[in-house]
Amino acid sequence: MAQRVPVCDAAGGSKRTSRVRVAVRLRPYMEKQDDKGEGPCVRGLGSQSLEIINWRNSTETLQYQFDAFYGEQTTQQEVFMTSVKPILPHLLNGQNASVFAYGPTGAGKTHTMLGSQEQPGVIPRAVKEVFHLVRAREKDADDWDYTIGMSYLEIYNEKVLDLLSPNTQDLPIREDKDRNILIPGLTHMPLSSLSDFQTHFIPASLNRTTASTKLNHRSSRSHAILLIKVVKSQRIPPHRQQTGKLYLVDLAGSEDNRRTGNQGLRLKESGAINLSLFTLSKVVDSLNTGGGRVPYRDSKLTRLLQDSLGGSAHSVMITNIAPEYKYYFDTFTALNFAAKSKLIVNRPFVRETVSSTAEVHKTGKRPRQEQGCGAA
Ligand code: ADP
Ligand code: MG
Repeated sequence: MAQRVPVCDAAGGSKRTSRVRVAVRLRPYMEKQDDKGEGPCVRGLGSQSLEIINWRNSTETLQYQFDAFYGEQTTQQEVFMTSVKPILPHLLNGQNASVFAYGPTGAGKTHTMLGSQEQPGVIPRAVKEVFHLVRAREKDADDWDYTIGMSYLEIYNEKVLDLLSPNTQDLPIREDKDRNILIPGLTHMPLSSLSDFQTHFIPASLNRTTASTKLNHRSSRSHAILLIKVVKSQRIPPHRQQTGKLYLVDLAGSEDNRRTGNQGLRLKESGAINLSLFTLSKVVDSLNTGGGRVPYRDSKLTRLLQDSLGGSAHSVMITNIAPEYKYYFDTFTALNFAAKSKLIVNRPFVRETVSSTAEVHKTGKRPRQEQGCGAA
């Protein structure tokens, strides 16, 4: 779970802040991804560290440390229990959370987020847990009513597309006076049970996969974003309302498309993917160092995640990597991105639509710390 450290905010007060938890997951070695039979070039060192061979000098390895390292034996259950489950209770207190899968195409992002029937991933497990938490609260008979709902969208070529209503056009991203990010016109589906979720989500996610084979693997070239919203409403005056948002994001592949010689539409897509992932890394870095403007507005992805990454949210990034040599440079880039983002400072705060005290939304500042990513 995100670690909290006291820091001084801009006004000089001491606030509790939460960092983004950064986990790295190495998928099992696959012989068919290794034409030259070179074996793996990455291996785990422990529950928080790994090493990758140094291509400049093969007698050296580069070692990285993260909040968690998940080796190839790690189960879906273990990933969920240690990286995702602990942040979910915050949703019932009006706070936001986000879970991202980052990494090159073929490294296991969709396996981690969606999984399969036999090995369900973060998404089905998290939704099940949210229902479980809400039911438990309802049993406690507190003074609040809870509702759960979902939206499902895709950012493709810097366009925001509704996956629950596939024929709609690019949707706008707006911010309200309380700094909540909204997408007017996006389908919001109320959910009464887990099976209700499956009814809406499975066909929409299959749609996306089918479209992907027709459109040059579109699924690896767009960001798929599932939003689960928990709204709690007070039964008695003053009828306060709090919303907690959970973003579950299967990011576009982080591979450097310029190297693969893409042209035309593919090149345009590459530009959009590079822009949003590059901005994501700048946002993460800027939150990390606490210095200067956080460039949320520079891409649709970061704009959308503005209220759920950094100032207000409990975030987890799962960087997926593959062990074969053909992924080496993409793995290296992904690890460097992950190592930087290890130090994002988040500060949770409670969102309330009826509240006398205006919420302060500032980024906690803290000196930058260097990451252990040098040669061993
Ligand atoms: P991505 O979404 O990053 O492109 P996928 O999730 O589609 O990658 O994974 C690529 C392949 O590797 C798939 O066949 C997937 O089932 C398999 N795979 C990925 N991660 C694991 C894992 N941890 N254990 C077993 N198989 C995995
Ligand atoms: Mg995928």
